[in-house]
Amino acid sequence: MPGRLKSPVRLRQDRLVTMRDLDAGELDRLLVRGRELFEGQPAEQFQGAVATVFYENSTRTRNSFQEAGRRLGLDTLQVGREGSSIQKGETLEDTLHTLRALGAVIAAVRTPEPGALAELPDVGIPLVNAGDGWRQHPTQALADLLAVRLAGREIQGARLLIVGDILHSRVARSAADGFAMLGAEIYLAGPPTLLPPGLAPALGARLVTLEDGLREADLVMVLRLQQERMERGYLPSLGEYRREWGLTAERLGRLRPDALVLHPGPQNRGVELDAEVIYDPRSLIHRQIACGVAMRAALMEAMLDAR
Ligand code: ASP
Repeated sequence: MPGRLKSPVRLRQDRLVTMRDLDAGELDRLLVRGRELFEGQPAEQFQGAVATVFYENSTRTRNSFQEAGRRLGLDTLQVGREGSSIQKGETLEDTLHTLRALGAVIAAVRTPEPGALAELPDVGIPLVNAGDGWRQHPTQALADLLAVRLAGREIQGARLLIVGDILHSRVARSAADGFAMLGAEIYLAGPPTLLPPGLAPALGARLVTLEDGLREADLVMVLRLQQERMERGYLPSLGEYRREWGLTAERLGRLRPDALVLHPGPQNRGVELDAEVIYDPRSLIHRQIACGVAMRAALMEAMLDAR
């Protein structure tokens, strides 16, 4: 169709499970397109609905998939664990076929089970992993990369320090993959119970002390303590966690003056970071949320075009 607006991004696949499903070229082009959409360029328009299938809680991610869908002209269909037929034993696969029959042309899926989406047979529509347990949350990494670029920073050569509950964090895994793919160096710091030996090399990252990391980092990503994924014994107390590992207002003063702070949200104020940090001019936290809409729109536009 002459003149029809098309996504400038070509993806090799129509299912995004981990950041490693993208290559550096695709990632870069998605970020370029995300920036255009962030700056208000029109998006390609589609018919049908984006389905959000969320079997874990969400404020930012679910709403931003729906908002991104609206930018693409899509309606929304929504399924949660409570009140849906999953309580009657319906499988994820059957739920997705049902949503497709109701008009879904793409679905964002969040499950507590790592790898749930990778194992699913084709359901006839593109699928985006919106967080699978501790494993991956690729669209969070897309949002974070755009937030850093919009702040005028190069990813290539940047030193990204990820702090805290690495063990349970899908955000850490996706960020480590995505930032490294574009040439950043990844450093990890956290209590040994939440950052066991072997995890840093497995993520292509270097283990550092918090003090060294804060002194060196260009970007500091603070993680939420994933208390819902913890059994007993990981932490002595929340107060002690803050003292040892929290990005307190005092520690913020030890960062490089031009360092930027990220947190995927939701924050445990007064635990992994102090409230002052959230609203500090160096914090990208609210920008990350806005970038999530633009990047999810860029991603879904490209995936829908590939069909
Ligand atoms: N919102 C992010 C996630 O769903 C981070 C978090 O919950 O800590 O993974």
